[in-house]
Amino acid sequence: MQISKKQIEQVNDRIRALRQADSFYGKKLEAAGIDSITSAEDFEKLPFSEKSDLRDAYPLGLMTAPESDIVRIHSSSGTTGLPVIIPYTAKDVDDWGIMFRRCYETAGITNMDRIQITPGYGLWTAGIGFQNGAEKLGAMVIPMGPGNTDKQLQMMQDLQSTVICATSSYALLLAEEIQKRGIRDKIRLKKGVIGSERWGAKMRESIKNTLGIELYDIYGLTEIYGPGIGINCKYDTGMHYWDDYIYLEIIDPVTGKVLPDGEMGEIVITTLVKEGAPLIRYRTHDLSRIIPGDCPCGSRFPRIDVIMGRTDDMMKIKGVNVFPSQIEEILREFSELSSEYQIRISHLEGKDTMRIYVETTGSVDFAELSRRIAERVKSKIGFTPLVKVVEIGVLPRSEKKTKRVIDERYD
Ligand code: ZN
Repeated sequence: MQISKKQIEQVNDRIRALRQADSFYGKKLEAAGIDSITSAEDFEKLPFSEKSDLRDAYPLGLMTAPESDIVRIHSSSGTTGLPVIIPYTAKDVDDWGIMFRRCYETAGITNMDRIQITPGYGLWTAGIGFQNGAEKLGAMVIPMGPGNTDKQLQMMQDLQSTVICATSSYALLLAEEIQKRGIRDKIRLKKGVIGSERWGAKMRESIKNTLGIELYDIYGLTEIYGPGIGINCKYDTGMHYWDDYIYLEIIDPVTGKVLPDGEMGEIVITTLVKEGAPLIRYRTHDLSRIIPGDCPCGSRFPRIDVIMGRTDDMMKIKGVNVFPSQIEEILREFSELSSEYQIRISHLEGKDTMRIYVETTGSVDFAELSRRIAERVKSKIGFTPLVKVVEIGVLPRSEKKTKRVIDERYD
């Protein structure tokens, strides 16, 4: 997906703004002696930006528009070290809403839908992003925010919500609760818009089948507006993204080289019209690929595949590179297992050890099942993990992001 003439013009406009504001990236460009680009080759020579750059700019070093134009800030959760603060102008907030409305429309959601929003409101971009887009669409919003499952289910029944917006783990929790309480016939959900974490096909199937709804993956990150920069359509052939607002590249995470369409690598995003905090070649550390060709829906917007993991999730176990998605794929082959799992990596007696915790639904021989899973991992990836089978419901489910890989080697 080569950068177009129009996109190059937009990038030049952002380069000018960044240099003028003397922000962190403006200084980087100045140091590299770059004040404009003329070709795709030039573009690929622009330096990357990283989360650590954004953190170094804390609190307001990213601000690229005059303060009088800034109407809001958002912040990433900052699980490690300082958070990142992203300033928005009124136009940025509006553009984000337009993109999000497009996401709902791509999912076939209309102004006659009732949208129950369960992601959190506040500093982070989740709840308010879902809300802005839904209001632009003209749908009825039920702004629940996270938690309080009893109340969520009550409102879902009383207001007859037709769309649920949630993280995948909270959607699963709600689905299980609806089943447990036997209230499936009292709810009218048709669609789920699920964001913010990588999730497996098995979990997806579980939510889909329990609730009998269509599911849509929404993509986005706080540094680049928030959720709403891409979503899959009903053909479910990857997520369309809005290339009139962002330019997206896939690079080799080790060499930094741009990869051809179709190849798996790290997503790098350039914002084309963002004013408050434009980003150029921002490394997301999300793994995906650009899907070549056209979608049967006829949309002109290009597509990326579902997020396959994070570049920093890559684990080295006994000298073998492993992605959690590989383990997940193997677990999916076992119909006896639920969609929940947990991977723990530790360093014991001079050796790396991977323990995989899984849940089983039926009355099966736990020891025999764990032996079969371990053998399958050995034959597909090349090392033998310790597999612990537990009863369904034992592994943690959370209202926020569920941590499925725990690396105890660096604790
Ligand atoms: Zn499509």
